[in-house]
Amino acid sequence: MSAATDTDAIPVTFYRPNYHIKTPAMRSPEYVQLSTAAAITLGLIEGRMHRTACTHCLNLLVTYPEGCRANCAYCGLARHREETRDYADRNFIRVDWPAVRYDEIIARVRNGDDRNQFERMCISMISHPDSNDDTFVLLERWVREVPRIPVSILSNPTTLDYDDLVRMRDLGAEIFTVALDAVTPQIFDRTRGRGVDSPHKWDKYWRTLEWAAEIYGPEKFGAHLICGMGETEREILEVAQKIRDMGGHNHMFAFFPERGSLMEDWEPVPRDQWRRVQLARFLIDYAGGHIGRMQFDSAGRLTDFGMDRNELDALVASGKPFQTSGCPGHDNEISACNRPYGDSMPADIRSFPFALETRDVERVQRQMQGEDICTYEE
Ligand code: SF4
Repeated sequence: MSAATDTDAIPVTFYRPNYHIKTPAMRSPEYVQLSTAAAITLGLIEGRMHRTACTHCLNLLVTYPEGCRANCAYCGLARHREETRDYADRNFIRVDWPAVRYDEIIARVRNGDDRNQFERMCISMISHPDSNDDTFVLLERWVREVPRIPVSILSNPTTLDYDDLVRMRDLGAEIFTVALDAVTPQIFDRTRGRGVDSPHKWDKYWRTLEWAAEIYGPEKFGAHLICGMGETEREILEVAQKIRDMGGHNHMFAFFPERGSLMEDWEPVPRDQWRRVQLARFLIDYAGGHIGRMQFDSAGRLTDFGMDRNELDALVASGKPFQTSGCPGHDNEISACNRPYGDSMPADIRSFPFALETRDVERVQRQMQGEDICTYEE
């Protein structure tokens, strides 16, 4: 298990896991992979995270030795890595995802080993022939054995049909999300489609979002969007507004170069750009904002949020717009899926996995004014 020390000014210590996790023979539905934060929260591995004791979302990933058949340019799980790295051993959104028996995860959650920290479980699909069927099996079992924790599906539209979405809803999935990630057809094709010999199609992803709006209804579906892959601020916010107008929510990720991916040499999204998009996204999703009232310059850069100054300042001071955006827990505006350091280093936080303190808000405000500072005070 690699500690994230190679990129972090602040040490994050992981101790050697107390069971063997790297056998490529592990496959779903018997096994799933889970995020490092979830493994720590569940007591499966020992470790600590900077300024947060846990995650409130049990993020699971279907797993197969042959891995994902897609080849997305920014992803650590992409097919092109199969020559160099066992699938069970690849990093994903900056961390390792140990593989564990589903039996053990269910037993530990039912036993309260998470100290009731989990407010949501999420099943992430990949592009694999068995991914649909195994997601049905994992979902059905969870809803039957752990009904107190609602389930989100992070779907893979490329392998899904309309009836599959209906079946997941009927099996008890509460929220259905599409990892659109790239926000223009050109960037999508370049990073997820023909540009990287990968099967994903822009039109199929949008059709699946329309199905989700119809089948799951308002507030119960959404999309993942990545900021910083060449789109303008106007382009990503136009997509965010479109999804909001359909009744869905937007879960934002700051682009961060993933080790071993085809985009590992790219720069992270500039801090000021990210902060403007993060704030505007929150206004659109939760504070009555609308892109129609926002102003942009000729380069598509946001210059006016289209909101009363005092209201805007109060929202910024609350810090809420800068916390990780994801599926909710007990508090509808706060993401249970806080994905600690999934899109940045602890020393330079992009999506805060905890409520911001005054010192954090002050640094965010300075970043929005263009100061090139990280969030960690030397
Ligand atoms: S926001 Fe989190 S819980 Fe929701 S679909 Fe995405 S990864 Fe899953």
